[in-house]
Amino acid sequence: MAGEAQADCVFCRIVAGEIPATVVRKSERTLTFRDINPQAPTHLLVIPRVHYPNAAELAAAEPEIAAELLVEAGEAARGEGLAAYRLIFNTGADAGQTVFHAHVHVLGGEPLTEGLV
Ligand code: 5GP
Ligand code: ZN
Repeated sequence: MAGEAQADCVFCRIVAGEIPATVVRKSERTLTFRDINPQAPTHLLVIPRVHYPNAAELAAAEPEIAAELLVEAGEAARGEGLAAYRLIFNTGADAGQTVFHAHVHVLGGEPLTEGLV
């Protein structure tokens, strides 16, 4: 069934407490933790507790949770004291997605001057 935990999914296993993570925020339907391989001084991941392979599929199936992801990303950035930050949703392997459980990257803590857009 859509949204069900996947035994072979690293983020489902973090939600289940089977893999440790440095969690900075929790909400009823999301979890925010530090990326294990940070690409900026602050690099957080906000994920839904339910499993969808990417953010668009999450938004199509459960738009309220997708909205909560953005609210939580903003609150997490504020909690880190970030005045400016970047949110990234990699979707598909060719776009750099490596974990196929919806997530948004929150990057900040240094001037983010490079970018595709
Ligand atoms: P993607 O490339 O799919 O957009 O992002 C996946 C992110 O998850 C990567 O930045 C990677 O460093 C992070 N990641 C992968 N495995 C783990 C893990 O076990 N713990 C944490 N905290 N981050 C992870
Ligand atoms: Zn998952």
